[in-house]
Amino acid sequence: MRPLAEAQRDVLDAMPLLPTATMPLDQALGLALARPVEAPHDVPPFTNSAMDGYAVQGADVGSAPATLRLLEDVPAGHVAQGAVTAGAAIKIMTGAPMPDGADTVVKVEDTEPLPGAVRILAATATGTAVRPAGGDLTAGSPVFGVGERLTARHVAVLASLGINPSVRRRPRVAVLSTGDEVLPPDTQTLGPGQIRDTNRPLLIGMLQRLGAVVVDLGIVGDDAETLRNALASGADQADMVLTSGGVSKGEYDLVKAILAELGTVDFWQVAMQPAKPFAFGHISGTPLLGLPGNPVSVMVAYEQFARPALLHMMGCDQVFRAQAAAISAERWRTHPAKVVFTRVITEVRDDVTYVRTSGEQMSNVLSSLARATAFAVVPVGTGYVEEGDRVTIELFRAPATRTASEVLGG
Ligand code: AMP
Ligand code: MG
Repeated sequence: MRPLAEAQRDVLDAMPLLPTATMPLDQALGLALARPVEAPHDVPPFTNSAMDGYAVQGADVGSAPATLRLLEDVPAGHVAQGAVTAGAAIKIMTGAPMPDGADTVVKVEDTEPLPGAVRILAATATGTAVRPAGGDLTAGSPVFGVGERLTARHVAVLASLGINPSVRRRPRVAVLSTGDEVLPPDTQTLGPGQIRDTNRPLLIGMLQRLGAVVVDLGIVGDDAETLRNALASGADQADMVLTSGGVSKGEYDLVKAILAELGTVDFWQVAMQPAKPFAFGHISGTPLLGLPGNPVSVMVAYEQFARPALLHMMGCDQVFRAQAAAISAERWRTHPAKVVFTRVITEVRDDVTYVRTSGEQMSNVLSSLARATAFAVVPVGTGYVEEGDRVTIELFRAPATRTASEVLGG
């Protein structure tokens, strides 16, 4: 059996980088920067007021009360005509540029309007409520590095700079299910020995979440000619081909045979559970990942191989899931020779994260996968996880702190 870390390294190593393009900002979410971003100008671009109030000279408002002459009124998006002089004030709205001569804003709550003047009711320190130009980013400063994946927060920063980023394009991924027993999910009546295709909906959902473009090749029966055509067409149209089924030992050998015939595909036994059998290689230069048939193995293999591989192609540096520490709330059996991915539910008590298994752990059981919020990643060399043991988890759904019904008192 191949150690998991070694198999992961070999998969990453064989991934080509996707081409780069300048992307309109509204299409860049989830993609990774191909070039570093520098601030082309200061943010904020000009010194402005943090409050609705009066722009003044600090020396005039160090003690209160004080009465200042009112010179003019500046809403956001407008600029004062004149400067603030000693003994005078300009009315200003949040975000409006500070007038020349002013260094302080007295908030409107601390003032009282008078005809042609304003009365300052509270002593205000010099510099209060002023947001300096470049207080967020200064012109020329580094903002984001290559490989950073754009979240909505990154997109907002790029928006403030007016930048359409240079990113690597979205991967196209061809997905197909194999097996004569596998029928479309909307099949109403199953014949003897038949099951519905769960792997394609699972993979397509995870790929959509990653921001990939899915090429759905459907279900292909265990038939040489159809499979050959489907794989060739997938390799032709996509940056990666993902298949499920037909790679296990003692398998109806057709799938393996076609893969080997069309390209350079190896069959691995990876020291992990579930998802031990795994095919990896290239067809016409396109990487192919042959995932196992059992649905839970599909998710584990996707998470451990396909997702990091795709993120790597996209130019991301952070390709693996964040891990966290938790305490086991129960005892469960694992496998000393394999990295075991146990489906668990997380629960936070007194600021400590506890995990318990989400149900039956066989690799065909999807309901416990749907209930789970994380995988516990149990390393090689462990036979049992004991209650109270520290375990590493990879969360795919963060534990909720409170529910809507709790907030609403339902
Ligand atoms: P295989 O490696 O092709 O023998 O598949 C292993 C197990 O996964 C068998 O029980 C298959 O019926 C099942 N399986 C394969 N493909 C799918 C699929 N697309 N959806 C649900 N189960 C599948
Ligand atoms: Mg099969």
